[in-house]
Amino acid sequence: VSDSAIPTTFDVIIIGSGPGGYVAAIRAGQLGLATAIVEKDPFLGGTCLHRGCIPTKALLHTADVLDEIREAKSIGISVGAPELDPRGVQAYKRKVVTKLSKGVEFLMKKNLVTVFTGFGRLEGPRSVAVSGADGSTTTLTARRGIVLATGSVPRSIPGIEIDGVSVINSDHLLELDSVPKSLAVLGAGAVGVEFASVFSRFGTKVTILELLPRLVPIEDPDVSAELATGLKRRKIAFHTGTKVQGVEKRGDGGLTITAVDEKGEPLSLEAEKLLVAVGRGPVTSGIGLEAVGVATDRGYVKVDALMRTSVPGIFAIGDIVPTPWLAHVASQEGIVAVEQLAGHPTRPINYDRIPGCTYCDPEIGSVGLTEPKARERGHDVAIGKFPLPPLGKVQILGAREGFIKIVAEKKYGEILGVHIVGPHATELIAEGCAALASEMTVEELVHTIHAHPTVSEGMKEAAEAVFGLAIHGA
Ligand SMILES: Cc1cc2nc3c(=O)[nH]c(=O)nc-3n(C[C@H](O)[C@H](O)[C@H](O)COP(=O)(O)OP(=O)(O)OC[C@H]3O[C@@H](n4cnc5c(N)ncnc54)[C@H](O)[C@@H]3O)c2cc1C
Repeated sequence: VSDSAIPTTFDVIIIGSGPGGYVAAIRAGQLGLATAIVEKDPFLGGTCLHRGCIPTKALLHTADVLDEIREAKSIGISVGAPELDPRGVQAYKRKVVTKLSKGVEFLMKKNLVTVFTGFGRLEGPRSVAVSGADGSTTTLTARRGIVLATGSVPRSIPGIEIDGVSVINSDHLLELDSVPKSLAVLGAGAVGVEFASVFSRFGTKVTILELLPRLVPIEDPDVSAELATGLKRRKIAFHTGTKVQGVEKRGDGGLTITAVDEKGEPLSLEAEKLLVAVGRGPVTSGIGLEAVGVATDRGYVKVDALMRTSVPGIFAIGDIVPTPWLAHVASQEGIVAVEQLAGHPTRPINYDRIPGCTYCDPEIGSVGLTEPKARERGHDVAIGKFPLPPLGKVQILGAREGFIKIVAEKKYGEILGVHIVGPHATELIAEGCAALASEMTVEELVHTIHAHPTVSEGMKEAAEAVFGLAIHGA
């Protein structure tokens, strides 16, 4: 960071190169702003690329292929029993991650963004100190503004200490090059159920423990129920409404986990490893927020609808602000912040229309209001629900469960939410996003012709189900 040929004054400085920061940098470059990005890790891409979205989905792809090979005989292909090579799985995952990380580097060059490797800290409302690993410090100046995008790290709960060996978080589990015999998963959110889906198919005995009364608690209750059926079928054990009380290391290196179940009965479980997947905490300490007076609330940076913090010219985006912890949210927030900063037309984000995808088996894709949320907001609600198995494509794929549920308001038929469980749910949800963005009505969806045979036919059927007219409905 101390090369004197490198400029130190920019229009905009971005701290953190996750999907929030690097996308903000690209848009800033596209808008002609002289841009710097500061990243403490020796690679670009943040949690999403190195410890989140991408490596988990690589492991899920391996698990999907493994499953398909196991099922091959049922569609007329004879193969021997597949053998998992955990080191090979890690090598594949690293190859994908490295290629994408190089892609981000290329995009920085293409958009003339200067990359500083080092720890960034606010020194003033237009000034960032970058401390390099070699002990050097460079002070950067921003003519227009600074975007904070320092992301989040896994957290635990009181009384459960993560040792990185037997009590682990998602960062540790992603690096394992062996398959544990048994795994307890604390937390049935997206991260918990995705890892459960990976490791059960890798041959691990998996048990999920969730404090709240249902799996994937932020989803529509029907989604939780369908996932519960799917997990039972796949022999993934789970206990909802269950409070973990303690974790003890046994002499043989394994763990005994004690909990109280939903009936108030004690529960004891033995597992080789415990994955703590109870959420993440924002990285906001040590970055100089107090020094320049950036207001925070319970560790999160406070922002308005255009990602402006309490200090003019300083913006915050992604996992450090109290909006959904998702890569695509971080990226869009980055775009809004930079466009605002550049004086370019922009739009605040409508957080009611953020898709959420969980890549477990069966997959989940949802956007908009759940049925209870729509009722809570006072809508007169109409529901259309279509089970996927009657569809030709779904039978071809051999899927045994799934549905598409549309939540609409009765008077005008506006679609308020779409909830999908089943094959390709994470791709299909894009149609729900477009429907919500264009304020589409159920009637318009009924008259939208979908190709046959596809899983997407379920969208039209679900819209027809609102009127009790689904063609393949029971
Ligand atoms: C296991 C797992 C799976 C996930 N799967 C998905 C998914 O499928 N889809 C999805 O949308 N989301 C997923 N997420 C969430 C997603 O990864 C985050 O929402 C996203 O990465 C947030 O982006 P960000 O830019 O705010 O921060 P991050 O991606 O966390 O990036 C922050 C960057 O800032 C750097 N940094 C921090 N402090 C400093 C500093 N002082 N100076 C310089 N650099 C600094 C960090 O090193 C990091 O590179 C997943 C998360 C996990 C953990």
